[in-house]
Amino acid sequence: MKLRNSFCTGIIIAGLFIISCQKQGKLQDNKLISDSIKKQEWAIVIHGGAGAMSTENLSSELDKEYRAALTDALNAGKKILSEGGTALDAVEQTVRVMEDNPLFNAGKGAVFTHEGKNELDASIMDGSNLAAGAVAGVTDIKNPITAARTVMTNSQHVMLTGAGASQFAGEQGLEIVPPSYFYTDRRFNELQEVLKKDKNGTVGCCALDKKGNLAAATSTGGMTNKRYNRIGDAPIIGAGTYANNNTCAVSATGHGEFFIRWTVAHDISALMEYKGLSLKEASELVVNDKLVKAGGSGGVICVDRYGNVSMPFNSKGMFRGFATADGKEGVFIFREE
Ligand code: ASP
Repeated sequence: MKLRNSFCTGIIIAGLFIISCQKQGKLQDNKLISDSIKKQEWAIVIHGGAGAMSTENLSSELDKEYRAALTDALNAGKKILSEGGTALDAVEQTVRVMEDNPLFNAGKGAVFTHEGKNELDASIMDGSNLAAGAVAGVTDIKNPITAARTVMTNSQHVMLTGAGASQFAGEQGLEIVPPSYFYTDRRFNELQEVLKKDKNGTVGCCALDKKGNLAAATSTGGMTNKRYNRIGDAPIIGAGTYANNNTCAVSATGHGEFFIRWTVAHDISALMEYKGLSLKEASELVVNDKLVKAGGSGGVICVDRYGNVSMPFNSKGMFRGFATADGKEGVFIFREE
């Protein structure tokens, strides 16, 4: 009996020892991750949509135009962050620049629904307090991202849709435009060409400010040829957008139905929070493993609380760019860059 007791005690002690070693190892790993990364004073990362773009199907003029447009957007956010502005202002203003540019599938350049209309979705999240706002299926708000922010700050709700969202935006003094504002020949012709084949694109921005706050914003026209008031992942907190000061800020682009079901943006944050993965490990695992196995094409941009950025995608290309306080920056389109 005595022998058995001491044997059991031995097993328990050994078990506790192993658990404590594992814990220490994990803590050490985390510490290594955080210590080995130089903290950026601020950082910003953007996307202008993922898709099947390649050097063969994107003309050199369009290539130039997209890179200039990404640079313009990045510069708007960089200015705010380097002057000590908030991550929230940076992501909203940066996304507005892209919403106003007809090149991107958000705001002015939104794609068309099956019925030849434009229905826009957007969301924003403040990583400092998990406040969030979203609008979905709106047809006449010039800058849906600002409407999303107004829902966050001036309403009791997280998401407003359709006519109600427009009424709220109007009451809040936001610019309302006739639905024809969103008409562009390019997108309309695209609808005619791809009436059977869905096509994506979206814009997004994530930022870390000098105070250490994270924010994320996403805005889209959705998928070309969508029907039945379909809403994608972009306005859904945890799917297309997520920000939490403890972990990271994420904005997604791609086939929304998969991003909703795999709760992509929150999954990246959760892998960091609960498993101690780095931003790069978590975002690569979700985009290039989980989503690939599921058959969901697209990508994400993200930034963590140290100012590390990651921009994984599993499609052919993704319009994207980043800038950090140490002077590093760039805009990219294809995989090989
Ligand atoms: N995620 C968007 C949606 O499903 C589209 C995209 O990003 O391309 O509505």
